[in-house]
Amino acid sequence: MTAEIVNPATGLVTYRHELLDSAQIEQRLAAAAAGFPLWSARSLQERGAILRAIAAQLRHRRTDIQLAMTSEMGKLKVEALAEIEKCAQACEFYADHAADYLKPQLIDTEAQRSYVRYEPIGCVFAVMPWNFPIWQVFRFLAPAFMAGNVALLKHASNVPQCADLILAVCRDGGLPEGVFDVLHIDNDQAAEVLRDRRIKAVTLTGSERAGRSIAANAGDQLKKCVMELGGSDAFVVLEDADLGKTVAAAVKSRFDNSGQTCIAAKRFIVVDAIADAFVEQFVAAAAERVYGDPQDEQTTLAPMARADLRDELHKQVQASVAKGATLLLGGEPVAGTHAGYPATILDNVGPGMPAYEEELFGPAAAIVRVRDDAEALRVANDTSFGLGGSVWSGDVVRAEAIAKRLECGAAFVNAIVKSDPRLPFGGTKRSGFGRELADHGIHEFMNIKSVYVA
Ligand code: NDP
Repeated sequence: MTAEIVNPATGLVTYRHELLDSAQIEQRLAAAAAGFPLWSARSLQERGAILRAIAAQLRHRRTDIQLAMTSEMGKLKVEALAEIEKCAQACEFYADHAADYLKPQLIDTEAQRSYVRYEPIGCVFAVMPWNFPIWQVFRFLAPAFMAGNVALLKHASNVPQCADLILAVCRDGGLPEGVFDVLHIDNDQAAEVLRDRRIKAVTLTGSERAGRSIAANAGDQLKKCVMELGGSDAFVVLEDADLGKTVAAAVKSRFDNSGQTCIAAKRFIVVDAIADAFVEQFVAAAAERVYGDPQDEQTTLAPMARADLRDELHKQVQASVAKGATLLLGGEPVAGTHAGYPATILDNVGPGMPAYEEELFGPAAAIVRVRDDAEALRVANDTSFGLGGSVWSGDVVRAEAIAKRLECGAAFVNAIVKSDPRLPFGGTKRSGFGRELADHGIHEFMNIKSVYVA
């Protein structure tokens, strides 16, 4: 079967490639099974040296990788280059820290010796999305390689060249055959792969729909899974917030990557005392984000990754307006473009509207006005999602008190929610379960073994 890739900025088919047949999938599964004992027997020092070489390859090939990201999913050139550098740093971070994360933990019992050992489990299947087509993969791969696991990647079907370049930098960095490969397959083939006995676990970053399907399949096979799903992060603004800093952060968090970020601020929950001033400045700053060619360094708002995703966002915006939201900015697809949507702001958003209840995965912000801190917290938690959230205030004690009560995996005070290799990353509620990054992330796909010597 041939897949066609459409450049979201132009609407033109720019790449065609073949999906794998079952013999090719079998060959990769067999290579992974054969590669695991060899890779896991390598020392941490050897694995770390290869990760550092992969980091160097990422930097060396950054122009090719950036061009693939921009042509396949429309990412701004500057954002793509920053993403590639972040991946290189994550490789170096795990090369530096894995020995500490994986050292046996001595536990004091009545035994002569008792301790916890971290052991690799084998081949992990990674199903990854297009929105950060390099970072989402390295966020998983860097700790997986240092853990001694091997991996097979099924990337989103619209970013095959990104997947191939990830494989190329790994190979050029010296990663042996059988440690990592890419499967260009559809979702039915992915379900078959997950059922294969040589796959020990699965990690997904993507939609709830994909999460339900993959987690059900993993559950049926009693295989461990990590689910990084969607979010509808609250961005709580209290009346004593530094307005200039808060507005700049609001615009960046909502409109970078054309709004297609799981931890983007999506619901701006603003107390009445500052709401009018915040809204006025937010609208003015967002209006400066101008749609254009993502390869042009002057462009400040990228196309969305696919026309169907743009259409879905537009439906959510229209349905919210029909239910009483006030459209302050944008709200119509950019005329004459394949997948362009302007910076859009909805005010007076409330329960029952898609902008309140659902994830807006694109450049559309929802403002919810509230009376005070207590109502802000209640609204922030009035969602089925639980990925991240932020609180903005001149009084960090007051803001932290709210942050601690946010039902989510990452609560930030006076800072944009972001992923950082030093901190665990993941969600609660329907945003998923399990953690990536830091020590928690490397331990997710390991056998945490107790050893007790009486
Ligand atoms: P999907 O969840 O469909 O895609 C993510 C990955 O999952 C892709 O590799 C996709 O493959 C795969 N996938 C989807 N369904 C299955 C399945 N049944 N079995 C195995 N693999 C599957 O995201 P979309 O591209 O459709 O984006 C839609 C929405 O998903 C967004 O609007 C957003 O809400 C959410 N999303 C969240 C992300 C996050 O970072 N948390 C990232 C991307 C999307 P394929 O491409 O071949 O279908």
